Amino acid sequence: MTIVVRSDREFTNLLKNSLRSRYEKRKRSEDEVHVSDILPSSCIRKQYYGRKFPDLEPLTDESINHFIRGEASEFVITDLANMGVSQADLEFDGLIAHPDILDKEVIIELKDTQSNRRLDITDYGFRSYLRQLLYYLTITGIEKGIISIRYSNREMRWIKSDEKGDYFFRPFDGKGPHIESWSVLLPKDDIARELFRNEMMRRKNLFVEAIKENDVSILPRLSMKLRNIKCSYCSFYDKCMNEDGETEKANKMANEIDLLDIPGLVDFKPFLQ
Ligand code: SF4
Repeated sequence: MTIVVRSDREFTNLLKNSLRSRYEKRKRSEDEVHVSDILPSSCIRKQYYGRKFPDLEPLTDESINHFIRGEASEFVITDLANMGVSQADLEFDGLIAHPDILDKEVIIELKDTQSNRRLDITDYGFRSYLRQLLYYLTITGIEKGIISIRYSNREMRWIKSDEKGDYFFRPFDGKGPHIESWSVLLPKDDIARELFRNEMMRRKNLFVEAIKENDVSILPRLSMKLRNIKCSYCSFYDKCMNEDGETEKANKMANEIDLLDIPGLVDFKPFLQ
C-alpha cells in the first residue's frame, strides 16, 4: 500500500466559489451609506466605484483572504457578545454604523491587521481606526471607546525597495503576533464632537449626491499623502485618475487639514509595554 498525496485544485475552486457567492451577498446596495464608506482614508471614490462598477473589482485571492479574516473576527465578536451588543445596527441621519461591541458606557472596535509595523497615531491605519471610533462615539453620545488591534504577523523593519520587491529584516527584539489595546476618551461637551458630526454629514451627503447624480467628480480623490500608499493597488485607478475628473471643490477637500492634526485636539501617548 502507498499513501497518495496530490494537490487538489478542484477543492480550492469549490471553496473559492462558495466564498465568492457569500461575498457577493454581503455587497452593499446603492441606497446604504455606512460609516466605513465615508472615512477619508478608505477613499470615498473607491466606495462609489465599488457600488457603480462592481465588475471592475474582481475577487482576488487577497480579497478572499481579507474577507475570511473579516468573517472570522465577526464570529469571535458574536462569541464575545456578553460584553455588550455585538455589531449593533445604528442609524444616524441616513448613515449606518455597526460598532463591533456596544455597551451603555463603552464602544469597542476590534481590529485585525497583517501589518509588520506596530501602529500609532502617525500611521494612516491607526488614524482610520481612531476616526471610525470617534464617529461612533459622536453618533451615540458615549464618552469612552477602546480600539483593540490584533497583529497576526511578527514585527519587521523595512530596509529598502527595488524593482524586485521590498526588503525587511526581523529584529531579535521585535514583537511577535499579539494584541495592543488603546482607550479613547471623547468628553460629552468636547467641541470635537461637533467637528466630527459636521465632517460625517458633509461626506455622507456628498456620497449620496454622487450616487444619485452618477457624478463621481464631486467626490475627492485620496489626499496626496495617501495616494502613494494606496492608489497603485486600486482596481479603479485608470477610471479614477485618467477617465473621470475631480471638481476644484473636491480637490480642495482632499487636501484640507485633517481634524486629527488640529493642534491640541488629540492628546496621544505612545504604547506602554
Ligand atoms: S485610485 Fe486612489 S483616489 Fe482613485 S478610487 Fe482608487 S484609491 Fe481612490
